[in-house]
Amino acid sequence: MWTNWSGGQRCRPVATARPLDEAGVAGVVRRAAERGHTVRPVGSGHGFSDLAVTDGVHLDASVFSGITAVSSDGRGDRATVRVRGGTTVGDLQEALDERGLALRVPLDLRGPTVGGALAVGAHGSAPRGGSLSEAVLGMRLVDGRGRVRDVARADLDAARTSLGALGVVLDVELAVVPAAPVRVTRSSRPVEEVLDPDFWEGHDLAEAAFFPSAPTALARWAEYVDPAEVPAEEADEEDDEPRERTVGVTSAGATGRTALGGAVVVERALPRLAPSLNRVASRLARTVSATGAGHRVLSDPPAVRYEQTEWALPREGLPDGVRALLGALADGLETGLPVRMRFGAAESGWLHPAHERETGWVAVRVPRGTDPGPVLGRAAEVLRAHGGRPHWGTRHDSTAADVAAAYPRLPDFLRVRDDYDPDRVFTNPALARLLGD
Ligand SMILES: Cc1cc2nc3c(=O)[nH]c(=O)nc-3n(C[C@H](O)[C@H](O)[C@H](O)COP(=O)(O)OP(=O)(O)OC[C@H]3O[C@@H](n4cnc5c(N)ncnc54)[C@H](O)[C@@H]3O)c2cc1C
Repeated sequence: MWTNWSGGQRCRPVATARPLDEAGVAGVVRRAAERGHTVRPVGSGHGFSDLAVTDGVHLDASVFSGITAVSSDGRGDRATVRVRGGTTVGDLQEALDERGLALRVPLDLRGPTVGGALAVGAHGSAPRGGSLSEAVLGMRLVDGRGRVRDVARADLDAARTSLGALGVVLDVELAVVPAAPVRVTRSSRPVEEVLDPDFWEGHDLAEAAFFPSAPTALARWAEYVDPAEVPAEEADEEDDEPRERTVGVTSAGATGRTALGGAVVVERALPRLAPSLNRVASRLARTVSATGAGHRVLSDPPAVRYEQTEWALPREGLPDGVRALLGALADGLETGLPVRMRFGAAESGWLHPAHERETGWVAVRVPRGTDPGPVLGRAAEVLRAHGGRPHWGTRHDSTAADVAAAYPRLPDFLRVRDDYDPDRVFTNPALARLLGD
């Protein structure tokens, strides 16, 4: 029995294949098709949605791991790397850092694989920066007929966010940038302050978290800094213990995190006390800052497992959407975990939720063990009504009609899918629901 990270998705595949090379992947796809089975590539199972669920063959590509090539213009300004699809995002960011390189936008996730993160359009929180998908310059995959293919440039906007519908991603070429430290600050701020465009327009990286009934948000923002401006002792401390070290005020994100984690635990025992506990949790956060590699100082390992729905809202509608959401959730629905707001630039991927519009991401989570239906369902209703498109890797109930209405380039994507997977070897119920067959 396969289960995802949250425990909310389960399936019993007819077989789980772990091929060791490209020819092995191609063989698994061909043999499955001959036997009338479907195939789903699977990464780390960190998705919350049912995209990886199958009663056919699970194809685990985790053996395809690591950076295989680096090229640069000599100054590092236009560097590219080739990375294999089963590499975890955590390993990718560490391996880049060792080479003095970094993703253009640091990702606050470790476990998901590159193949899985690209399939769903996984993003960070740079108001002017793109997702991992946007960094893709080339891709090699095994298609539905078992052919190893280099994705043609004309098909790249389909492949960079494909829902895993075009093939098994073997490796990708990514644009990367010279590594530069970021100075990150965490502070509690009035909700209306973080809903003002000045908040996200004023920083390289920005995000905020809210409890529906609390007057303040936990805000986090960061700027890139010149490595020469980082005092040596600060940089050293950062490398040793990035999460606990603070420069300036008090004891780190750990304070806020412990307070929030505590709110969840107590809330499950004493649900009627939750709103006041959440108000206390918001006030407990103190202003702290830290400097270091983005993927380390922004890393926020979850204190509890949870279920999540996340929606990409058009940036201009974000403040109203968040206010409506907080109002709806405050009306007798408790999330137990803060609602998280992040940002991203417009994307070129035809099925990326931020396709062609600057985006505000809004994530609603409930701790594992809580019935996710009422909270996530209400959140989806409100966020869809505000122009939201669901994050493919999170829980939602969108249909082919919703996808057709939200994605103007869907016909182009389906044309590419007919080429790469004409027999629908890679389908499953989730893809049939979203793409129509
Ligand atoms: C703790 C946690 C933190 C997270 N943080 C973020 C975040 O900050 N930002 C964000 O955007 N998302 C975040 N996510 C969601 C996560 O990035 C996505 O769900 C991602 O898809 C998970 O990757 P995976 O390798 O686990 O893929 P899986 O869950 O195993 O699969 C997801 C999809 O990818 C496809 N797939 C997997 N491997 C391949 C491959 N080699 N070739 C083709 N298709 C493939 C699968 O078929 C499926 O459709 C988080 C999830 C968790 C649990």
